[in-house]
Amino acid sequence: YREMRLILGDQLNIRHSWFEDTEQVLFVMFEMRQETDYVRHHQQKVAAFFAAMRAFADVVGTMADILYVRLDSPKNQQNLVENLAKTAKALPQLEKFCFQQPDEYRLAEQLNKLSIAKTNEVVSSEHFLVDLDQLEQFLPTGKSPLLENFYRSIRRATGYLMDGAEPLGGQWNFDQDNRHALPASETVPTPVTFSNNVEHITQMLQANHVEMLGKLEPEALNWPISRRQSRELLQHFVRHALPKFGLYQDAMSTRGYLLFHSRLSFSLNTKMITPREVVETAIAEFESNPQAISLAQIEGFVRQIIGWREFVRLIYWREMPAYKEHNFFAAKRDLPQYYWTAETKMNCLQKSIQQSLDYSYAHHIQRLMVTGNFALIAGIDPNQVDAWYLGIYADAIEWVELPNTRGMSQFADGGLIATKPYASSGNYINKMSNYCQSCYYDVKLKSGPKSCPFNSLYWHFLNRHRDQLAANPRMGLMYRQWDKRPAEEQDAILQQADTWLVNLNEL
Ligand code: FAD
Ligand code: SF4
Repeated sequence: YREMRLILGDQLNIRHSWFEDTEQVLFVMFEMRQETDYVRHHQQKVAAFFAAMRAFADVVGTMADILYVRLDSPKNQQNLVENLAKTAKALPQLEKFCFQQPDEYRLAEQLNKLSIAKTNEVVSSEHFLVDLDQLEQFLPTGKSPLLENFYRSIRRATGYLMDGAEPLGGQWNFDQDNRHALPASETVPTPVTFSNNVEHITQMLQANHVEMLGKLEPEALNWPISRRQSRELLQHFVRHALPKFGLYQDAMSTRGYLLFHSRLSFSLNTKMITPREVVETAIAEFESNPQAISLAQIEGFVRQIIGWREFVRLIYWREMPAYKEHNFFAAKRDLPQYYWTAETKMNCLQKSIQQSLDYSYAHHIQRLMVTGNFALIAGIDPNQVDAWYLGIYADAIEWVELPNTRGMSQFADGGLIATKPYASSGNYINKMSNYCQSCYYDVKLKSGPKSCPFNSLYWHFLNRHRDQLAANPRMGLMYRQWDKRPAEEQDAILQQADTWLVNLNEL
């Protein structure tokens, strides 16, 4: 072989131009302890990655030569650099080492330093809409990035939902039509399920003592592990959930773990499908079925994929490695134990965490306004918060997890992504979910042993960070509201929050 090409576990893109010419090429893939152990992961996440990697290697094997090293192979060095060096050493004709631009900073660090062949070549992963060499054009350094501006420029560049130079329907944003709570009368679509048998993988993980969390039925892994299954999930979504995606995008309910969301994040992040095909399939469905899918629904969905997803990636690459160190509020409390067990009397956290342990999935508002919000107002160390999000969700890869967690949900970057902290009292959760109806705590109370902990912790958070937040124009109203409250009420609320904070694990 003259050329060795590395395929990372999140580069399962069979349509990559690499596969057009495979003469004298050896493809290599490695399952490694380096990847299973950088945080404690959900069993479903590890199993889904390895199962998807193995399925992908089988497909590559039908058209090219591939070396696939399993986790339990005696030849495995369990580390990317050493595995590559060892493989290269055994290829005397090797001239070129080729890899696709990795999405994670730690992998780029490892690969950029490598010297195992005469030449190294880095190519695009051919997945994202914006290439990293266009970063400066889309998010110029030194300027505060704004999702809305970025999103509009991508709409213009791609022509998605455009009418010439204008947005289809004459407006860019339909948020005011969307984001309703789920009424009891609404029928929730039945999610598509997969039953992938991964017993061989779980046995291997157990035999090798990989420490993991969460539930998994080894004979029925419910994540798509191939392009075909990813397409099936996409088709099911555009038919059954897209018609009401935006409408209930912020709703939370015990009536379903998925509601009107797509669960496409794992397929997208492993690159089994591309953002272009997801968006184009959704737009085609909207065009062929305008009675069922309104512009507000399709726009809400397209915004997530071509807006948020691409935007956070650019932020990650613009701001790393410093981004990982940000801790604007100097938060340092330990993550409460119930994040790992779901054993808490707070029903919103109980349901969101239990669901995450069961499915390795939570939708955006559960992540942002329940688990994230609580960690923010309770002042939890962002390193521990990051490790939790990175471990528990099947779709968690640092480039997308970190800006969302540390930036958007913990405001640890001081407001680079979010214009104000996503902190809220129990009021918001009560408005958007049915969690409070069967909670031990009372969402209407702000102090006392039965009061909703979110209520007093919210005001405590605003008070302890007044110096950092009061000047924020989007926070002024909240401070004015607080200042109008009688001193006795303020004291009771703050004392209650202090009590919760010393007994955080007991809530
Ligand atoms: P849908 O609601 O169906 O949305 C469709 C797609 O849009 C998603 O699959 C995703 O690719 C994209 N998308 C939507 N919102 C975002 C966003 N804020 N950032 C990037 N892409 C987005 N997403 C991840 O993929 N990996 C993560 O590790 C991750 N961590 C998060 C941590 C926190 C604290 C928060 C608040 C959000 C996080 N997100 C993450 C974003 C979002 O919550 C998930 O992408 C989404 O819940 C995945 O479910 P879905 O596929 O059903 O999404
Ligand atoms: Fe959560 Fe408070 Fe509602 Fe209970 S009352 S579910 S703790 S928001």
